[in-house]
Amino acid sequence: MPHIEIRQLTKKYINRRKMNRNDGHKETIGETITVLKNIDVSIETGEMVCFLGPSGCGKSTMLRIIAGFEPASSGQVLINGRTQKKPGADTIFVFQHNGLLPWLSVRENIGLGLRHMTNKKQRDEILIEHIEMVELEGFENHFPGQLSGGMQRRAELARALVVNPEILIMDEPFSGLDFLTHMKMREEVVNMHQFIRKTTLMVTHDINDALIMGDRIVIIGGSPSEVILEKKLDFEHPRNFESNPELGKLRDELFLMMGVSYAV
Ligand code: ADP
Repeated sequence: MPHIEIRQLTKKYINRRKMNRNDGHKETIGETITVLKNIDVSIETGEMVCFLGPSGCGKSTMLRIIAGFEPASSGQVLINGRTQKKPGADTIFVFQHNGLLPWLSVRENIGLGLRHMTNKKQRDEILIEHIEMVELEGFENHFPGQLSGGMQRRAELARALVVNPEILIMDEPFSGLDFLTHMKMREEVVNMHQFIRKTTLMVTHDINDALIMGDRIVIIGGSPSEVILEKKLDFEHPRNFESNPELGKLRDELFLMMGVSYAV
């Protein structure tokens, strides 16, 4: 059984706007826009699937529906064969940047997901393990505002993993990071995924990230958005475009497909 099954998922929004009528009065009209149409994707346990598509194509909307934060207009999302009735706090964790609470220290932020644990010793062990995993030893008592962007992102990652969710959802996790920190974080997320093999969904508009990180890519696009390409990426890690011509060729094809000539 797939871990996550997205079946015929369609999402429509009603955009209300005011119009001037001929008699001078204003009238509110509702315009229905279909953002996602009949999306079908199955995701296996432990797989990392990167959803790729241009800005505004509905990637975040899809993640919100999978996480149970928003209802679908039609179709369904099954987790372990069952529909989600409400956001499953222990099942799914949505990794979002700026997700740290500024008034709590790194340690307290990461520990939020363990607040229900009564065994203090065990709780501290898990906390230390995760602080070490993201290499933030020595910064436990710092506040988010005292950390660099990359360190904040690592703390956010630890905050997600400490909950030990079945499914990790990441929406543009590297946005706003400088180039080198982006590369380093990407490497860390790949290593982390190789190590813990959690089902991970990542949304990105960055073709390079999707090809370097994903076990599979799913490209959505169009108006409304549909799945336009699904491709398994059977490339060993660490992946590198320069040393793997096949991966480089695939990148060129995807750039062309998304309307950009990479070789300018
Ligand atoms: P992406 O993540 O691919 O950039 P989004 O999922 O954020 O795209 O948005 C897809 C489209 O849905 C956009 O056109 C956006 O304006 C629209 N949209 C998203 N949320 C709402 C909402 N709550 N009400 C109306 N339209 C929305």
